[in-house]
Amino acid sequence: LPTRVLKFGGTSVETPAHILAVARRILAYRKAGDPIVVVVSAMGQTTDELIRLAHRVSRTPSRRELDMLVTSGERITMTLLAMCLESMGCPAISFTGSQSGIVTDTRHSNAQITSMKSFRIREELERGRVVIVAGFQGVSALKEVTTLGRGGSDTTAVALAVHLGAPVCEIFTDVPGVLTADPRIVPSARPLPGIGYGEMIAFSHLGGRVLFHRAVLLARKYGIPVEVRSSITEERGTRIHSETGAGPGAGTGHVPPARIHADSEEEPMESERILGVALESPVTWVRVRIPAGTAPPPGAEPQAPPRFLFFSRLQLPDGSSWVEFASAGDTDTGTWTQAAHWGTGSEISVQSDAALISLVGEGILSQGDIVSRSESAMQAGGIPVWGVHTGTLSLSILAPATQGEDAVRRLHAEFLE
Ligand code: ADP
Ligand code: ASP
Ligand code: MG
Repeated sequence: LPTRVLKFGGTSVETPAHILAVARRILAYRKAGDPIVVVVSAMGQTTDELIRLAHRVSRTPSRRELDMLVTSGERITMTLLAMCLESMGCPAISFTGSQSGIVTDTRHSNAQITSMKSFRIREELERGRVVIVAGFQGVSALKEVTTLGRGGSDTTAVALAVHLGAPVCEIFTDVPGVLTADPRIVPSARPLPGIGYGEMIAFSHLGGRVLFHRAVLLARKYGIPVEVRSSITEERGTRIHSETGAGPGAGTGHVPPARIHADSEEEPMESERILGVALESPVTWVRVRIPAGTAPPPGAEPQAPPRFLFFSRLQLPDGSSWVEFASAGDTDTGTWTQAAHWGTGSEISVQSDAALISLVGEGILSQGDIVSRSESAMQAGGIPVWGVHTGTLSLSILAPATQGEDAVRRLHAEFLE
């Protein structure tokens, strides 16, 4: 029987009552006889609370100790769920990332999985136990505890689904799937039946945080479909799949949206689509003018770049250049937001209260009027447009953070209602 890999996020395990509900769902699935691995996140806002706690005792806690601290959040959930299942008569065992054999590199707080040695999980599945794995964590070759980046339990789930040969990775959360926008901002947002990997990577990267973009990258690499579903209701949710809908697990779930419409009268066969609107806020928006002949300052250490939402560099005929980038507010920009980073005489402008509002979808730029329609929608709402950026699957607008949510509602009304 194929193993089922189920992941329950922080909102789905927020209280003991939630954990009880998750256990009941697992019991119901177990009746079908499949071996089950469950990946859990920390309860509710635990990870944020632990990080705040660290900053109460130190202004600059080391990343190593922070990783040791925050991984304890997932350990709490895993043990409670295991105890809960056992009390219901279901044999269960919990494992940390390290015990699960998730080996990573040494980048604390943003480690990448290098290999999986999940023999302990397999042994326990063979013994008939439900295996509960603490999400978001691993261990380096030097036996240091690491974390996989915020939202990283999604990555744990996909990695285990790939490694254990599950036909699909099932992600349970507090919304009924991937919607056309965050329902907290647009209550009328609709669940999408299916999305291609590329679109979902763009959507997640630009702020649609329902799935961690690194988890989707991993799923695409191994061609495993991901299903995002409600942990409360029984709705089918959203299937993230290869662009053609082929690959392992194809045909077992949703029909790719393109096929649904293939013989519809209203929609032409070759059509662009706008899938949804994402919001990243606050965003740090930086513009730098670097004079001709400027070299990096002597002794400047190359630093890990922040997580860029976009980055561009323009060389002018006079030899001077322009750099422009935006990074998510929660990323560490290091010296990248200081003029000295770019060399003597560089002029820098840093706007740290911006929002990036993005329309995402395949072939979005083939719609010639999309920029002017977006700008008109912003103008109608009195929202200043600070900049427009395009990618192959997205069009993003920079605006003041205070008007980010309003901008999402206006773009949703213009293109998706
Ligand atoms: P979990 O605790 O299950 O990992 P997250 O908080 O990481 O959940 O992600 C779920 C949240 O993502 C939802 O509560 C919703 O507010 C937000 N979200 C943002 N954009 C979208 C979207 N396009 N579709 C669905 N949810 C979205
Ligand atoms: N608990 C971790 C976080 O809040 C990991 C996760 O939820 O996926 O980022
Ligand atoms: Mg999440």
